[in-house]
Amino acid sequence: MLLQVKQQDTHPDVLDLREEIERLGHRTRVLATPDAGAIVRCIGPESVIYEIADKHPGVRVLEPSPSPHPLASRHSDQPTSQVIVPCARPLRIGGTELIVIAGPCSVETRTQIVEAAVGVRAAGAAALRGGVYKPRTSPYAFQGLGNEGLEYLAAARSATGLPIVTEVMDPRLVDRVAETADVLQIGARNMQNYPLLDEVARVQRPILIKRGPSATVEELVLAAERVMLGGNDSVILCERGIRTYETSTRNTLDVSAIPVLRERTHLPILVDPSHAAGRREFVEALALAGIAAGADGLLIEVHPQPETALTDAGQSQDLRAFADLMHRVTLVGQALGRPIQRPSSGLGDAA
Ligand code: PEP
Ligand code: MN
Repeated sequence: MLLQVKQQDTHPDVLDLREEIERLGHRTRVLATPDAGAIVRCIGPESVIYEIADKHPGVRVLEPSPSPHPLASRHSDQPTSQVIVPCARPLRIGGTELIVIAGPCSVETRTQIVEAAVGVRAAGAAALRGGVYKPRTSPYAFQGLGNEGLEYLAAARSATGLPIVTEVMDPRLVDRVAETADVLQIGARNMQNYPLLDEVARVQRPILIKRGPSATVEELVLAAERVMLGGNDSVILCERGIRTYETSTRNTLDVSAIPVLRERTHLPILVDPSHAAGRREFVEALALAGIAAGADGLLIEVHPQPETALTDAGQSQDLRAFADLMHRVTLVGQALGRPIQRPSSGLGDAA
């Protein structure tokens, strides 16, 4: 049986708590001591452990029989958790409604990101994506606008009311990015960057974790578990294609990961068909497959002029193609009883 002991002034000291448990005849072992508290494995009768957890406000029972990811696991009839993104009309990711997050791979100029935001909102996207710290294989490639890009994202949010999803790569920049972003994205290359996961666990923002190109589903769930254990329960998972021997697409969308994740975890699941396909012609087919397989929404790259995009030009939709794609995603959603969540009313209605 696992107990989580949060370290706050009002909560019991881990050593005192272990003594108390051991006086009652249990054996205990501290498994980990992340910032958010210690995990204590207790061996002995369950009833005593529940009594102790009831008595101390900072102590919670994680799972009677240890699972590798007690916080992220789906228990028998547990529904999918909804992650709420606070904004004019809070976004709910993981409910009946599907959510579409769209925007360019990279923020390039103020005009570009505002134009993209207005366009994707008009087509029905409920949040704006755009990278300002870009994970680039080549050190000579465009690395993103950094802080300046965050200002442009804030301008796009003011113009449209759309909440912002953007990637953070550097643990030292988590607080700075969280000042602007409504959702922090952990990119595929950083899914196993443990210091970064520990840092984002501290902030009060939902965290979107993309599956690493060579990561198993189980490793993705364990990355989510780490963020939850650190104190942040608002985690969204994203399948974005994995590296296989097939070269016709940039990655291979692992559609099977969607039902597997659905069974294994209660966290909401998104699909990113853009990075899976790598070619704009294939993005819609993969988007529809993702929704049909049960994903809670999509993350799609859209650029007002894709041919000029500084990053991921070949996989970006223009605004017209995105509107068509949204139309067909709506039809598949309707067939499944899952309407698309519309952007909040208010700001940007003129769009
Ligand atoms: C991105 O979303 O632009 C991105 C870099 O994605 P990934 O981490 O999935 O490669
Ligand atoms: Mn990209």
